[in-house]
Amino acid sequence: MADLFHECGVAAVYHLPTREPSVLAPKQGPNAVSRLIPRILLDIQNRGQLAAGMTSFNPERAQIIDTHRNVGTVTEVFRLNHPAKAESIMKENEGIAAIGHVRYATCGKDDKSYAQPFERHHIEKRKWFSFGFNGQLANYIDLRKEILSQGDFHLARETDTETLMHLISQEISKQQTPDYVTLLRNLSAKLDGSYNIVYLDALGGMFVARDPLGFRPLCYAEEDGLFVAASESVALANMGFREESIHSLLPGHAVIIQDGKMRVEEFAPSPRRAHCFFEWIYFANVASTLDDRSVYLTRKVLGEKLAQQEKVPLDETTIVVPVPDTAKAAADSMAFELRIPSVEGLIRNRYVGRTFIEGNNRADKAKAKYTPLREVLQGRRIFLVEDTIVRSTTMRTLISQLRERGGAREVHVRVACPPILAPCFYGIDMSDVSQLFAPKYVKNGELTAEAEAEMAAELGADTLRYLPMSAISEAVQFPSSSLCEACITGHYPTEAGEKLYQLSLENFRLEPGSCTGGRLIEASTPEAALLHSART
Ligand code: SF4
Repeated sequence: MADLFHECGVAAVYHLPTREPSVLAPKQGPNAVSRLIPRILLDIQNRGQLAAGMTSFNPERAQIIDTHRNVGTVTEVFRLNHPAKAESIMKENEGIAAIGHVRYATCGKDDKSYAQPFERHHIEKRKWFSFGFNGQLANYIDLRKEILSQGDFHLARETDTETLMHLISQEISKQQTPDYVTLLRNLSAKLDGSYNIVYLDALGGMFVARDPLGFRPLCYAEEDGLFVAASESVALANMGFREESIHSLLPGHAVIIQDGKMRVEEFAPSPRRAHCFFEWIYFANVASTLDDRSVYLTRKVLGEKLAQQEKVPLDETTIVVPVPDTAKAAADSMAFELRIPSVEGLIRNRYVGRTFIEGNNRADKAKAKYTPLREVLQGRRIFLVEDTIVRSTTMRTLISQLRERGGAREVHVRVACPPILAPCFYGIDMSDVSQLFAPKYVKNGELTAEAEAEMAAELGADTLRYLPMSAISEAVQFPSSSLCEACITGHYPTEAGEKLYQLSLENFRLEPGSCTGGRLIEASTPEAALLHSART
């Protein structure tokens, strides 16, 4: 999928006091495990390329906790292509514990001050902390108002991360000695939305917490005193942790490290789970296992389901072409089931990513990003497999490119997901219904053959088929009641999410002209603009 973006990633590392250093620790020893952070962040870079950073803890240093962060990829921020500069950054930020963050943001807030972790300096060590946040607070506007109403307060940035920083500070101020479970319990009573938090303070205390509904994934492992947490399991597996050591943190739970000891504690009950199904379909690294469900196997099942519902006749010219890279597992599996080849007919330029290119609109970017391979496509009947369609600009461009430059005879679009019908208020970059493709065609949530035919015509495809709603829970192997499927059902798992949706529908209806092209909340009110900008 080319027109939907990720939503941040977090990491943490700590070497607990042990007789022998862990074999997985860097060669500089346990006091330098912060050196592992860039490597972990590289493995979760798929979750955000706008900014990166880390905070390290070193009680021998004047700056007991210190933060290095900037806009750019992990390689850019840590100067990984320049060994001497990278070494200098690592040396300066050496520590026995560290937290890290990669950031994606939706709306132009790409200056350094929005990069995470956010550090709050204080003369009192227990109040001097830093944290990284992955998610989005759906009740951010209310929280912001509440903070500003408490006195002569000012919030400098339009982001829920700063709001969260103040809420954490307030909780810390209520305590004499750090009690992270109480802090998180009180915090969770105020927060509505998705929030994974990695936290480190100048006493050397750390917590890694996952919200009670478990929207975003969070994994951890500990072996021989080395503790590591990351948004995705692939980072831990690549470091050398044994499979049996890698766990998903349960929703409403936190790993706490205090006084050199690690424990896992529940800080809030989890009334239900609401794992974002998109993590398996698209966001997460295909090599990750999240909440005990393999991303690869999920996508494989989705491909099988696409094959099972196929009606277009197959002949010797028929091939499957995945849209690189995330649709590959589903495409290969669909092709295997149908006994036809899955072929690389679209070549992705991996270096276009964040660059400015002439024209710079989505269609131009799609043209620059994908090259159709005539040698593969000429005269073929093609099943073009995509993991989802959000805005459709990229898909439209790809189809025309397959025909015009590739010489494809027929293009049949197959989507390994149901249509996206509603916005996301939990951290994914699709909060404007006017930009979504499917709501214009799918009435009352019902996907009909006529609607698919209309959408195919609009895209310039011969046919278009989505997967039904039921395919998601069957493939992910969680019941729908344990998943967030709000963007395909319009049913939100939290009160604030539901409220925002109703408000957005209201605004949608108020838009003159129709119910097919309205603007959603963020464009309709100044408050909503804040919400839009808050996403981390
Ligand atoms: S609304 Fe959609 S994208 Fe957002 S958290 Fe829920 S399932 Fe994920």
